[in-house]
Amino acid sequence: MVRAIRIHEHGGPEVMRFEDVSLAAPAAGEAHVRNTAVGLNYIDVYHRTGLYPVGPLPAVIGMEGAGVVEAVGPGVEGLSPGDRVAYANPIGAYATERLIPADRLVKLPDAIADQTAAAMMLQGMTAEYLLRRTFKVGPETVMLFHAAAGGVGLIACQWARHLGATIIGTAGSEDKVALAREAGCTHVINYRREKFVERVREITSGKGCDVVYDGIGKDTYPGSLECLKPFGLWVSFGNASGKIENFDLGLLAAKGSLFATRPTLFTYTAKRADLVASASALFDVVASGKVKISVNQTYPLSEAATAHRDLEARATTGSTVLLP
Ligand code: NDP
Repeated sequence: MVRAIRIHEHGGPEVMRFEDVSLAAPAAGEAHVRNTAVGLNYIDVYHRTGLYPVGPLPAVIGMEGAGVVEAVGPGVEGLSPGDRVAYANPIGAYATERLIPADRLVKLPDAIADQTAAAMMLQGMTAEYLLRRTFKVGPETVMLFHAAAGGVGLIACQWARHLGATIIGTAGSEDKVALAREAGCTHVINYRREKFVERVREITSGKGCDVVYDGIGKDTYPGSLECLKPFGLWVSFGNASGKIENFDLGLLAAKGSLFATRPTLFTYTAKRADLVASASALFDVVASGKVKISVNQTYPLSEAATAHRDLEARATTGSTVLLP
């Protein structure tokens, strides 16, 4: 038996139950991992509420973790008991131990501590593909990044600074504004107090941004589109404030022949080679100190419900780790 957070129905944080769950021996292609740290991500909230599907209930939620390989199933090569590993997919991470397809694991370099890995795999590989593949950010880029003091936000802003971009961040409190500035934002807008569309227009002298990264969704749509230059790219990568309903394609024409994409990490790391390349780029920027991973909250795994409440109340900054 292992201990895990499971949901038996969708709903608020109270539907998460910390309970005994049986674990089979690893099947062909699988590894048995003992988690030493588990990452908290906004997608865990979507899985809990049912916004994103989780498969049959009851289900262990959670996408991300770091730990040690305990055993491998038949046919698994290049991985042995005792190896330090991390992962950002598939679901089932809120547990002391779990089974996982071995080809979703990456080995951890000595320079990356377990808690750092659990805090950064999902958010950090997301920053990697958003800045290097969805749009190639460079010194000429003027970008807007919403929730710049959040988990993805703090990593992405430091990485974008390293790439030389002009970064406009938004954040929901004065403390968060300060964190976003430290992370490399050239300008930060407290979008609870100021109208971000007007401020972006002012900051860019009316020109707008090349790219807008929007993980907020409902509350920032369609304002984010107003912040773009003609032919600019709107990257809608999340829905922390709720899902965008009835997307009006005509707005892309009206706002200047805009491009839009709704990317997900799981497509960008679906091929093993892409997963390894993304993780390795992340390990490089973290090990070299260009990007620092801020584990600003930790909770016992048994208190995942409190962690969800805090995340949804906008009371967290940077990354959060659950300790099994
Ligand atoms: P964050 O740590 O960024 O937490 C969410 C933040 O969003 C809050 O701290 C808050 O910051 C801001 N926010 C604004 N409005 C709301 C609201 N109504 N309710 C709650 N939060 C709000 O979370 P993550 O770093 O885990 O994820 C950020 C976004 O990126 C999420 O939408 C997530 O789904 C998405 N994501 C998408 C991926 C992909 O591949 N598509 C992969 C990883 C994450 P503030 O107070 O400053 O406004």
